Amino acid sequence: MSVLNTSESHVVCSSGQLFLQPVWDRLRTREAFTQSPFFPAIFSITVYLGFCLPFAMLDVLCPWVPALRCYKIQPDFSPTARQLLPCLGQTLYQHLVYVFPATLLHWASGAALPPREAPELLQLVYQVVLCLLLFDAEFFVWHLLHHKVPWLYRNVHKVHHKNSPSFALATQYMSFWELFSLGFFDMMNITLLQCHPLTAMAFHVVNIWLSVEDHSGYEFPWSTHKLVPFGWYGGVAHHDLHHSQFNCNFAPYFTHWDRILGTLKSAHGK
Ligand SMILES: [Zn+2]
Ligand SMILES: [Zn+2]
Repeated sequence: MSVLNTSESHVVCSSGQLFLQPVWDRLRTREAFTQSPFFPAIFSITVYLGFCLPFAMLDVLCPWVPALRCYKIQPDFSPTARQLLPCLGQTLYQHLVYVFPATLLHWASGAALPPREAPELLQLVYQVVLCLLLFDAEFFVWHLLHHKVPWLYRNVHKVHHKNSPSFALATQYMSFWELFSLGFFDMMNITLLQCHPLTAMAFHVVNIWLSVEDHSGYEFPWSTHKLVPFGWYGGVAHHDLHHSQFNCNFAPYFTHWDRILGTLKSAHGK
């Protein structure tokens, strides 16, 4: 537990908060920006494009560096400018037309002042993992429904399947309703678990990274599905298969829901 000092600038921390308090204090010095209605949209697009950029550079290098192709799930595929530009344009358009007005509305409704104390490190990790598990379950149900009901597939989810094989910048190439649903699940979990703003930011960063990795088309020794034991995490290998076969691997990250419902297909036939 932590005790607030009478001094406005000093917070006494527990050992678990010691790790994160300096980070949180630093962010609080930029409160004018982080509490502005621009911050969520700028944060989201910067993190997203920042994670896409290394994969886009690998795609450019791939034809010249053959060694890179052994890490590609589909070695003969490289996205063209005609595929990349509409994806980039769609992301910028959606952030400007949907994400920014939504955050502006939230800001105008009078968001609560952020706390002075940082969250405990263990609590942050636990809540980020819980948010991911909840998001995975919610998106699994949504995704399955949007494949099984032809009207929903045609009018909502089909846009996301336009790019097959997938590539990093195609991650957020989706209809407004799909973007809205993902944003809704994301915010609902944070609200349900009453996450600290720093925990919410960590969850957004991890969620964006995992979704970009899912669509990257690259399988490295350090890819998330290779680091999580017992085949609990499907990751890029499984989601790439979903994009090419449509009828399997509906969960974005973990494998348990597809295993229970019999829709799990291993990328390596194991
Ligand atoms: Zn996808
Ligand atoms: Zn799908």
